[in-house]
Amino acid sequence: MSVINIDLLCSGNRRALAKAITLVESKLDSHRQQAQEVLQQVLPKTGKSIRIGISGIPGVGKSTFIEAFGLHLIEQGYKTAVLAVDPSSPVHGGSILGDKTRMEMLSRKDDAFIRPSPSDGALGGVAQKTRETMLLCEAAGYEVVIVETVGVGQSEYEVAAMVDFFLVLMIPNAGDELQGIKKGIIELADALVINKADGESINLAKQTQRHYQNAFHLLGSNTFWTPQVLTCSALRHDNIDAVWGMISNYKIDAINNDVFYQQRNKQNIDWMQKLIAEMLELKLKQNPEVVSALPQQKQQVASGQTTPYAAAKHIISML
Ligand code: GDP
Repeated sequence: MSVINIDLLCSGNRRALAKAITLVESKLDSHRQQAQEVLQQVLPKTGKSIRIGISGIPGVGKSTFIEAFGLHLIEQGYKTAVLAVDPSSPVHGGSILGDKTRMEMLSRKDDAFIRPSPSDGALGGVAQKTRETMLLCEAAGYEVVIVETVGVGQSEYEVAAMVDFFLVLMIPNAGDELQGIKKGIIELADALVINKADGESINLAKQTQRHYQNAFHLLGSNTFWTPQVLTCSALRHDNIDAVWGMISNYKIDAINNDVFYQQRNKQNIDWMQKLIAEMLELKLKQNPEVVSALPQQKQQVASGQTTPYAAAKHIISML
């Protein structure tokens, strides 16, 4: 792979950006090394976007919404990147977030950059690659970075931990069931947006909105921000501007309350700690002494000859 032209990348050249992302996604050790050098060089140019996570079950209208939202942002003059975190990426058989036919109009815009989910791989997995791709997009001048995911497995937690604002899309419903979304995801949300508020569903959408608004009020909030609940029709491009207005207000409030950059710093430190744990685990697995001692330690723990604590300490001392 040829060397990345950093100036070209930072001037917004799409080919340079795509090449840098390919480097970041590569599993080859030499590419990983090169990718880290690129990231280190562009670091001062990163961090200037607003990072928005968008989650919701398949069929809720994520791609329709992101297309409408992205087109609105571009109309407002914002260069917009869309990245996906798909827990069932092609390697694992079948992608939930689909293929290139999604967001057709948005993908034709010069100011939009759409990248499907990376396949799993090195340390930190898909989340690590998406974080790095996000930085590259920022260096290339993208002012809004959208990270899309489905409410499956750990993916929504991973995405919530890398964005400034986490939005959950829902469809109008009677309000009792949580649409297959785990309750926890509601706790991650900075906003719920009830999509498909059009035609005969308008009243139900309003009812759903009230239901969740009440729920959020009952839950209370110990920060400056109480999660908001909006309705929209992605299909008709209704109320998409209100969603952007809400997120813009959030950013202003978060900066004024000194939490915007604090949250990013905390996310980086948490991520570093997660990587340290993963790297240590890898080191353990690759250590021949550990590999040969482990079965005996397991056996001794199982038979009650030694405590789990003592065995763990013994294994760790081999590093
Ligand atoms: P995803 O799986 O979450 O990405 O959902 P899609 O964007 O593919 O949408 C699933 C279906 O819902 C498609 O048939 C869309 O046309 C439809 N849809 C999406 N948004 C709306 C909306 O605002 N109103 C209505 N009536 N249908 C919508």
